[in-house]
Amino acid sequence: MKYGALEAGGTKMVCAIGTEQGKILDRISLPTETPEKTLPSIIDYFKGAGISALGIACFGPVDLDRQSPSYGCITTTPKLAWRNCNIVKILGEALQVPVGFDTDVNGSMLGEATWGCAQGLDTAIYITIGTGVGVGVLANGKLLHGMLHPEGGHILLSRHPEDTYAGKCPYHANCLEGMAAGPAIEARWGKKAWELADCPQVWELESYYIAQALANYILILSPQKIILGGGVMHQEQLMPLIRKKTLDLLNGYVDAKQLQDPEHYIVLPSLDDNQGILGAVKLAMNAEAES
Ligand code: ADP
Ligand code: ZN
Repeated sequence: MKYGALEAGGTKMVCAIGTEQGKILDRISLPTETPEKTLPSIIDYFKGAGISALGIACFGPVDLDRQSPSYGCITTTPKLAWRNCNIVKILGEALQVPVGFDTDVNGSMLGEATWGCAQGLDTAIYITIGTGVGVGVLANGKLLHGMLHPEGGHILLSRHPEDTYAGKCPYHANCLEGMAAGPAIEARWGKKAWELADCPQVWELESYYIAQALANYILILSPQKIILGGGVMHQEQLMPLIRKKTLDLLNGYVDAKQLQDPEHYIVLPSLDDNQGILGAVKLAMNAEAES
């Protein structure tokens, strides 16, 4: 059986054909332009490929409520051309296959839970720290949606006493994304994030904010594993700082065996950057099973 997978991002659309064993048979990447330009190219790629379902792991916010008239839409995105685009309806009608749909980060979470380092776990989180910050949540074996879907990138944090940077988020003065996503690092320090690799104070501050977020996620969701992806996590010095500061903040209060082995608890993604597209394959498999 072949499944279509679409990892829909703000800058590129990765389209792939995968199998139920988690093997990617083929893939292409298209720039994210307007729906009028980009969706026909996506349809062309999948048409005739013999897929039995399509999974879409999509940038957001998105409407995941199947009872809602706008189910399948990208909603209040700052990418105005995509606002209110019903990507599920358009691709489903064009390809005539069942469509599975979720956020990009829930997709990555699902990829890791199905074929990666979160296999066998029922509660885990996947966080991406890149152009923005997003959090995918697997809770009791299901991807968490709730009233909309979690927006864990925008949780509010305590400002570091010496940090004078105003924050990059237009909605919140001191949320995780506004203080710690790639663009915030670059605006605070005036250089590209990777050009700051040799500046320890940058990564001390970065880990100060990320650790606060992780401590909060641990206290609220009790994840059995925390996976940290996204471009900013390419900085190898970050992970040890994040692990240490997270444990320091919890201060011994959470008495779980996982926290005694932080190297296996707070981890990088395990699927060679295929976690998102593989999650989309699994979304397609689920959609087919439900159809
Ligand atoms: P996106 O979030 O757009 O899908 P990425 O996860 O690659 O893409 O995130 C891009 C952001 O990550 C940029 O803002 C950039 O500053 C940051 N970034 C990319 N590579 C690195 C790196 N090697 N070190 C630190 N930051 C990086
Ligand atoms: Zn915010």
